[in-house]
Amino acid sequence: MSGHRDHPIWGCIADDFTGGTDIAAALVAAGFRTTLMVGVPERPLPRARDADAVVVALKSRTAPRQQAVAASLAALRHLTALGCERFWFKYCSTFDSTSEGNIGPVTEALLDELGERSTVLCPAYPDNGRTVYQGHLFVADSLLSESSMRHHPLTPMTDPDLRRVLAAQSTQPVGLLPHPVLRAPEGAARAHLDRLTAQGIRLIIADTTGNEDLPVVERATRHLRLITGGSGLARFLPPPPRAAAARSPADRIEIAPGPAAVLAGSVSATTLGQTAHARRYLPHRKLPPAHLRADPAGTIAEALAWARDHLDPSVPVLLHSAEERADVERAQQSLGATEAAALVERALADCARGLLDAGVRRLIVAGGETSGAVVSALGLRSLRIGPAAAPGVPWTSATYAGQTVNLALKSGNFGAPDFFTTAQETLK
Ligand code: ADP
Repeated sequence: MSGHRDHPIWGCIADDFTGGTDIAAALVAAGFRTTLMVGVPERPLPRARDADAVVVALKSRTAPRQQAVAASLAALRHLTALGCERFWFKYCSTFDSTSEGNIGPVTEALLDELGERSTVLCPAYPDNGRTVYQGHLFVADSLLSESSMRHHPLTPMTDPDLRRVLAAQSTQPVGLLPHPVLRAPEGAARAHLDRLTAQGIRLIIADTTGNEDLPVVERATRHLRLITGGSGLARFLPPPPRAAAARSPADRIEIAPGPAAVLAGSVSATTLGQTAHARRYLPHRKLPPAHLRADPAGTIAEALAWARDHLDPSVPVLLHSAEERADVERAQQSLGATEAAALVERALADCARGLLDAGVRRLIVAGGETSGAVVSALGLRSLRIGPAAAPGVPWTSATYAGQTVNLALKSGNFGAPDFFTTAQETLK
């Protein structure tokens, strides 16, 4: 049958781990069979070539600029070697960056490497309340600079005008694809992009006030080899051509029957609510940072021994690091925020390994940093992306010690209050 492809269409570079799972979920929803790589692999991994899209998840959002550029270029070269046709640089829908980057420098480096003249920057994700108007980013009904992002510890966003934010991080002039052009007759947006590109403008912010704008942006940018933005736009990509009708659906993954566990290392309001709900239904145990400080090995060994006695295929065990905000504040005051966070991340990562060694086959992990720590402790290099456990949170499959395991890795703010007790239902 003609039309068979032995290489992916899309190669994506995500600037953090749950950003990678988020765009991977969007691509699967759009019909692309998707593999997520954890970091840049040294050589092509088996799950890569038969995917329609490959996402490389980096940890480059807050890295020093040179390091972020080097890692992103290494990812691009890997994806190019796999045969990817088009490329996507994925960053957060709130344009999270430091004053020196890394969205501008990475985008410019990718354009140069690909020999492309221009690209769009489309962070909007209207379903999550992120919109852009006249280059200004809104979070729900507030300007970005008036949202909670202004207090972010690593990437405080104090200027809502993305043209200014980007110009400060870039060597190139910044242009705008404004909302009225998106609403003009078909072809106007593409003509506008061509005009700006002809003027030498390489970085073009795309307005988006609602989902109805995203297909317009998508059609106007089909000629571009590099797209940059959040995962909102990815949901509107046309599905890949299928060579044969028998090809399996995009979210088909191997499912591992067996006991499940929840590891909650996020202390966001959403996750604390999910933990409170789950404590009413699931066997649960807390790993407080103070205990981890006093006796890390003993605390972890006891928790694992307790968990082994409670393993059950239908009811997951829950290990969590806090019940309420006050737990976190206490730990941060006595140990310092960095030390407390590191203790919890290390402990939950060790627990993940201990649980899988004890026969657990499904892990639900809450927290972006926590998920990154778990995946790296398990030595997982690639994950196949499956059905959504919640919006933006895919189930995945991976191989651990020769066995298939399923993981759902969620960023702290995602999922409904009953996520921990119901997530497994979406895997059936
Ligand atoms: P989110 O996705 O909500 O940001 P992360 O896992 O990225 O979640 O970040 C949460 C951080 O909080 C992690 O570094 C984790 O180790 C830390 N943490 C978890 N529990 C506690 C606690 N009880 N005290 C202090 N820090 C904690």
